Amino acid sequence: MHHQIRVVLKPREEDRLIRGHPWVYDNEIARVQGSPVAGDAVALESARGRFLGTALWSPASKIRARRYSDEALPFASHLRPALDRALKLRAAEFDLDRESCRVVFGEADGLPGLIVDRFVGEAPDAVKGSWLSVQVLAAGMAAHKSAVVEALEAALSPNGIMERSEAPVLAYEGLKPSVGILAGSVPQSLTMLENGLRFEVDLASGQKTGWFLDQARNRAAAARRAGGLRVLDAFCNQGGFGLACAAAGAASVLAVDSSAPALAAVTANAARNGLSDRVSTREANAFDLLRELERSGKRFGLVVLDPPAFAKNKASVEGALRGYKDINLRAMKLLEPGGYLVTCSCSSWVDRDSFMSTIADAAADARRRFRVLEERPAAPDHPALLGYSESRYLKCAILQAL
Ligand code: SAH
Repeated sequence: MHHQIRVVLKPREEDRLIRGHPWVYDNEIARVQGSPVAGDAVALESARGRFLGTALWSPASKIRARRYSDEALPFASHLRPALDRALKLRAAEFDLDRESCRVVFGEADGLPGLIVDRFVGEAPDAVKGSWLSVQVLAAGMAAHKSAVVEALEAALSPNGIMERSEAPVLAYEGLKPSVGILAGSVPQSLTMLENGLRFEVDLASGQKTGWFLDQARNRAAAARRAGGLRVLDAFCNQGGFGLACAAAGAASVLAVDSSAPALAAVTANAARNGLSDRVSTREANAFDLLRELERSGKRFGLVVLDPPAFAKNKASVEGALRGYKDINLRAMKLLEPGGYLVTCSCSSWVDRDSFMSTIADAAADARRRFRVLEERPAAPDHPALLGYSESRYLKCAILQAL
């Protein structure tokens, strides 16, 4: 690449990048040769002149540059091959004709700041097809939005593309929320299949991109243990875990969330799958409800804890761990002997070891012993980059009370 903008790091700031981490922070940069604007491809160099890859420039963000390639490659030449590689990985792990999945997971797919969920299903007017829900969360990628939309249309021919860029991190990038239809037509809601069940996905206003795809296989892993048991699905959102358990033969499912619209979706999804007789919902703060259930002597054979990310940054990790300990302690007290705890954390700021050690603290306080049956990451449509722990954000442990 001629006339390339070069970003030279301070001495010894290259180690993380060499080990696979794709971000360059503003305070790690010694000098910039050229005047990059948002979305420009910049060549990364160590202080000693070692080439570290090509990155997209985000002028307002502390994460000033995000590497997309180890080669000296213009973004225009990188975009479509990177997308094709991302699709190839999903095609190897999913049946793309029937299964919904995340087809682009940002940095881990060489497309920093870009998230694309692909939903396969049926719109209310019986139109079958696929729809994309897109989030553009970095200024460097936002500059390429129209090229991204074109590439997605060419590679996937979706019926429609919905943008859902509204995460709080946008502010750090100097970006405004951007929500709307980018291409084709997008129904308010569609019905899709997961683990053999029909779920309604609200593309326009559901939480995150409409449906939490990362837990699909963890829901199946929970359901495998649920036969005949009373199940508590805490932080249930639209009922992914609880309904999978009900379909797998749970005796009853109590689905708890603080969001009334989420619970309305649980009720509708239960009806859609003929599970209404076994599924009930309760609108409550799960922290309070777990205590209340314990006091009233209710016991369960399987409890799911899938709270939102309690830690949103480094400063809130300690408070987050207290939160995880509290709900896990309460849930443990609710378990029958031999009962299962499916406990999750989706905060990238809380690493696996601190999460598991917090659960051990909770067990000590609950005076219960547990076996760890499984530790599960996000489904393979959310791949993790080695050396980039932010991409290994989801932890799901399945424990059994002794
Ligand atoms: N288990 C869900 C995803 C959960 S997302 C699934 O499988 O799809 C986290 C959910 O926690 C959201 O639906 C949110 O509304 C809910 N939530 C957040 N704080 C809560 C609280 N204090 N009590 C109960 N629910 C809460």
